[in-house]
Amino acid sequence: SQPFLSIKDLKVHFSTEDGTVKAVDGLSFDLARGRTLGIVGESGSGKSVTNLTILGLHNPDTTTIEGSIELDGDELNGASDRTLEKLRGNKMAMIFQDALASLSPYHTIGTQIGEVYRKHTGASKKAARERAIEMLRRVGIPQPDRRVDNYPHEFSGGMRQRAMIAMALVCDPKLLIADEPTTALDVTVQAQIMDLLKDLQQEFGTSIIFITHDLGVIADIADDVLVMYGGRCVERGPKEEVLRSPQHPYTWGLLGSMPSLDGPVDVPLNPIPGSPPSLLNPPTGCRFHPRCAFASEVEGNRCATERPLLQIEDGRGNACHLSDGQRREFLADLAASK
Ligand code: SF4
Ligand code: MG
Repeated sequence: SQPFLSIKDLKVHFSTEDGTVKAVDGLSFDLARGRTLGIVGESGSGKSVTNLTILGLHNPDTTTIEGSIELDGDELNGASDRTLEKLRGNKMAMIFQDALASLSPYHTIGTQIGEVYRKHTGASKKAARERAIEMLRRVGIPQPDRRVDNYPHEFSGGMRQRAMIAMALVCDPKLLIADEPTTALDVTVQAQIMDLLKDLQQEFGTSIIFITHDLGVIADIADDVLVMYGGRCVERGPKEEVLRSPQHPYTWGLLGSMPSLDGPVDVPLNPIPGSPPSLLNPPTGCRFHPRCAFASEVEGNRCATERPLLQIEDGRGNACHLSDGQRREFLADLAASK
């Protein structure tokens, strides 16, 4: 069947005073209905930019977009502002780390959720209020018929996050993009919000893109994982496979402890020596090569000169010049040295 969302060779370049920033540079992926794709990478890897671009929330004066973004059969690259605005909220919606940034301090929670609903459905104010109360109940806000008249500052951080989720889901979008939505919350509230998202996904059949730098979050919520580095995908696959037998040296670094070839690995993010690449003057060849401990294992300096292409088969693969044999050998060595 057709993927619900299909991204093909996406490039998002910004012009700045210093030159062109290649924030996303040849990214392709698919997302099926009802699945959750976790996108992981350091800040500056292009994960947030990718998703703002899908939503059409970029500055058209300074941004060049190439490639294809197909949502449920509609091409979004080049779509009019009007079309994109109609799709936002209705077919796709986003939740952020900072609920306060997406909620206005001057209007009640209920008015804000209701307005999104009215805009897309033309419902009456009364019906929109009913809908807002129902959504607040669904996201676990106690006494929703009273809380609906509160202002955002009268909600706790966790409750604001729930209200933002209610607002995102009020028109039953088929795609939800979640950009680090739990990062600012304490662990208990974070777990509650993750459970809520999983329940809502079951109920609504939503496809979710979950952006995070936290592999623990990926392990919890994702079906599939896409690892981004320097504006490109370096590895993707089903969550279990990526976490248990990662293929790309960058993912090895992210996972920190080397994977034993069977058992599950530790998931905390391990800082990798060196810094993320400049997207103004990205490294040639493999963008990870200045930080990669394995570059010298590849013959002929290819890592520095030749871009490794992403080879994906049945949803699993990587972009690296190491051969499968080398990969197995290094993983076995590293597992043995532990
Ligand atoms: Fe390392 Fe070379 Fe593979 Fe890039 S292509 S990850 S530099 S081994
Ligand atoms: Mg970000």
